[in-house]
Amino acid sequence: MNVLVIGSGGREHALCWKLAQSPRLGKLYCAPGNAGIAQVADLVTLDPADHQAVVAFAHANDIGLVVIGPEQPLVDGLADTLRREHVKTFGPSAAAAELEGSKGFTKDLCFAHGIPTAAYACFEELEEARNYVAEQPLPIVIKADGLAAGKGVVIAESYDEADAALVMMFEGGLGEAGANVVIEEFMTGEEASLFALVDGATAVAFGSAQDHKRVGDGDKGPNTGGMGAYSPAPVLTPELQARAMREIIEPTARAMASGGKPFHGVLYAGLMLTDEGPKLIEYNARFGDPECQVLMARLDSDLLELLLAVAEGELWSIAPKWKDETALLVVMAANGYPGPPKKGTEIRGIAEAEATGATVFHAGTREEGGRLLADGGRVLGITALGDSVTAAQARAYAAVDKIDWPGGFCRRDIGWRAVEREA
Ligand code: ATP
Repeated sequence: MNVLVIGSGGREHALCWKLAQSPRLGKLYCAPGNAGIAQVADLVTLDPADHQAVVAFAHANDIGLVVIGPEQPLVDGLADTLRREHVKTFGPSAAAAELEGSKGFTKDLCFAHGIPTAAYACFEELEEARNYVAEQPLPIVIKADGLAAGKGVVIAESYDEADAALVMMFEGGLGEAGANVVIEEFMTGEEASLFALVDGATAVAFGSAQDHKRVGDGDKGPNTGGMGAYSPAPVLTPELQARAMREIIEPTARAMASGGKPFHGVLYAGLMLTDEGPKLIEYNARFGDPECQVLMARLDSDLLELLLAVAEGELWSIAPKWKDETALLVVMAANGYPGPPKKGTEIRGIAEAEATGATVFHAGTREEGGRLLADGGRVLGITALGDSVTAAQARAYAAVDKIDWPGGFCRRDIGWRAVEREA
């Protein structure tokens, strides 16, 4: 079967790398891809915003499955168009992707179906929001309703800070994303991500992970797309995971289906493990990046079979199998990130890093005249397996140290919480 993957990040490299191992795979295409993906797939120049062009490519190349990596094409309805044109697709409809695209939609759904999450209220108007905040305890969480590339959440420690966030959002600082604002109770606990494959009726747990969002060691400094991750999340014990599936994921899938917006794809729950049990922080309607890479490194099953089962509504027949090891990934980013990254610097030593047994997933890379160049903020994801988080971390950094790239940097403490616990 021929497969087309949409996207160009480390997440899509990991998906392509794993799909390429499937005995059922014919040709693998990726649009637009990157230099690492080019080693396992044919890169295609296609604009994912041009839905008809994607449909035409799928028909012309006998594509049996399209896998959509990033959120924007999902929110834009690429999966709807493809399914309407009878192209099997892994990824939710625009209506179902509202679980990611609108925080207010998700909070209302949780409220209506008794799904545990932070108490909240939604506002369309500054004065009402101000009055509400004045009556709430601190800290308080202020969120833009729409997609804001990780910049739409402010945890305010003071009323002044809360007010500044409200003014910024309502005055258009985040564009349309901030036209509606969700105000939430602050929850305490450790965070973990839980993934589930969902084919409308059926939801199957698909691994857990924890990531590090801050740019600096000790989880300090500005937010990023993620500087590293490990899977499974040791804090999400099998009991807690089963509870989160039962109390959060499964009722969500049922509510979406009964509300006429069945979800087909991967549902990624950001969870807070509170004293009262797991509570939903947010949903994403796609794999996380870099969490996808550590999931793929651990997955023992045929990924193509799983994704196809989701697209065909046959998930009930399948149970994913995992390696009995921890996977840990260290992101190497270009100097300057998360500000404007310096592009075009040369990277050497990938083969040496992989010779240690690690896998190097590419994110922002391109090839020019046989040289590998940095072409984005997050550039490489060095991934290793081990019997513990400590062992996986040691292996990942041994591989990182083989990378010869003066133009890049990484954190040196990915997995530190779990490593401390293991010690
Ligand atoms: P992402 O970039 O992860 O998609 P986002 O912008 O969609 O983030 P959220 O995941 O909702 O926003 O929030 C970002 C972070 O803010 C969370 O990972 C969590 O650390 C913190 N956070 C959000 N809501 C709460 C809450 N109610 N209580 C405590 N912390 C919260």
